[in-house]
Amino acid sequence: MTGQTHSLYDMALAQFDRAAEYLDINAGIAEMLRHCKRELTVNFPVKMDDGTVRIFTGYRVHHSIILGPSKGGIRYHPDVTLEEMRALAMLMTWKCAVVNIPYGGAKGGVVCDPKRLSAHELEGLTRRYATEISILMSPEGDIPAPDVGTNPQIMSWIMDTYSMHRGYSTPAVVTGKPVEIGGSLGRYEATGRGVMFVLLEALKHLGMKPSESTVAVQGFGNVGTVSAALLHDEGCKVIAVSDSQGGIYNPHGLDPRDVLRHKRHTATVVGYPGSDNITNEELLGLKCDILVPAGLEGAITASNADRVQAGILAEGANFPTTPQADRALVEKGVFVLPDILANAGGVTVSYFEWVQGLQRFFWTEEEINSQLRHIIVRSFHDVLSIAQRKGVDNRTAALILAIERVHHATLLRGIYP
Ligand code: NAD
Repeated sequence: MTGQTHSLYDMALAQFDRAAEYLDINAGIAEMLRHCKRELTVNFPVKMDDGTVRIFTGYRVHHSIILGPSKGGIRYHPDVTLEEMRALAMLMTWKCAVVNIPYGGAKGGVVCDPKRLSAHELEGLTRRYATEISILMSPEGDIPAPDVGTNPQIMSWIMDTYSMHRGYSTPAVVTGKPVEIGGSLGRYEATGRGVMFVLLEALKHLGMKPSESTVAVQGFGNVGTVSAALLHDEGCKVIAVSDSQGGIYNPHGLDPRDVLRHKRHTATVVGYPGSDNITNEELLGLKCDILVPAGLEGAITASNADRVQAGILAEGANFPTTPQADRALVEKGVFVLPDILANAGGVTVSYFEWVQGLQRFFWTEEEINSQLRHIIVRSFHDVLSIAQRKGVDNRTAALILAIERVHHATLLRGIYP
C-alpha cells in the first residue's frame, strides 16, 4: 500500500460519514452499517514441497447481506490484514448498491506471497482455505471472486473443493472461473470495460472527444491493461502506463497490446522500445486528460495530489485516493469517477456469471457487454444527478446513492427479531 497515512478501514468510515451527513438516516442503522456483520479468521496448515508444514492465516468478512448474498474477491498478498478486509468488504456493499445488483459486500484473503509458492503449494493452500471458509461460502450465501494475487485457476480450485464436499458440481459458488467450467464470457475484461464505458460517458458529459483525449494508466495488470487497450480502441491516446517496476511515456501514444507483449517477455513495461522510462510518481503528475489509477490502494495521497494535472480521474483500483487527496482533487476541479462506480464492471459481470451458473444457461459475449454498458451508463447518470441535485462531488454522490438503497432496504426488512 503506497503512501498510505490512514488504515483503509478509517478511509472507508470517513467516506461513509461524509455521505451520511446528506442523508436522513436512522442513527442505529448508520451505526450498524459502519460495522461488518461477520468476520472469520482462520489459521490453517499447508504441506509445503520440502515436506514441512506451514501455518497460514486467512480471513473472510461479510459487511452486509441486506440486499442479497455477500459478494467479494479473495486476495493473496503479504500485507492482507483483517482491517483491510473490513474496508474492502464495506466498499463492495456500496459498489453493488451503486450499480443496483442484488448483493451485499464481502472480502477474503490469505496472508501469503503467491509468487513464492509453487503451483502445488498454491493449490493446497487454496483448497484448505476454501474448506475453512466454506462455513460462510455458498451459492446462496457468499460468492467469492478473484482479486489481487488470485486468478481463474484459483477460482477453479475453490469451485472444485466446494463441489467435492457437496458431491455435485456447484459452479455458482465462485465467479471469475475459466469459461470452460462455467465462467462467463467477458468476465476477464469486465472491469476494464466498465472503466472504458464510464469514461466515454464522462467525456460526453464534459463535451470532450475520445480522439482528442490523452490517458495515463498506473498499474498494468488485469484492470490497467484492459482499460488501456479498450480506450485505445475508442481513439484515446494512451501516453503512459506503469507497473510496480516503473512506467513508460510516449507523448505520441502507445499501443497497449504491444506494451503487454513486451511485458510478457520482460515481466515489466519498463524499457518498452520507443518510449521514455518514468517513475510511478512522474506518471501521476503527467499532463493528460484522463488518469486511471489501476494498481493498489493509496496511490494518490495528500503529498502528490497537488501534482495531478489530469482533468478526469477514473479509479480502476479500489481506494486509490486517500480522503485528503480526494478533497484536494475536488477543490482543483478534477472530475472524479470513484472506485465504486468506475470499477463496478467486474462485479456486474460476476453477477451475470452467477446468474448463468444458477440457470445453467449461458449468454453471448455481445449480450454480456451490452447489459454491462446499460448498467454502467445508467449508474453514471444516477450518480451525476445526485451530485448535481445535492451539490456534492461524485464520490459522495455515489455513496449517498448506495447508502440510501441499503438503508431503505433495511427499513423495509426491519430489525430482527
Ligand atoms: P493485478 O494484480 O492484475 O494488477 C495490479 C497491477 O498493479 C500490476 O501491474 C502491478 O505491477 C501494479 N502495481 C502494483 N503496485 C504498484 C505501484 N506501487 N505502482 C504502480 N503499479 C503497481 O490486479 P488487478 O486485478 O488489475 O487489480 C488492480 C486493482 O483493481 C486492485 O485495487 C483491485 O482491488 C481493483 N479491482 C480489480 C477488479 C478485477 O476484476 N480484477 C475489480 C474491481 C477492482
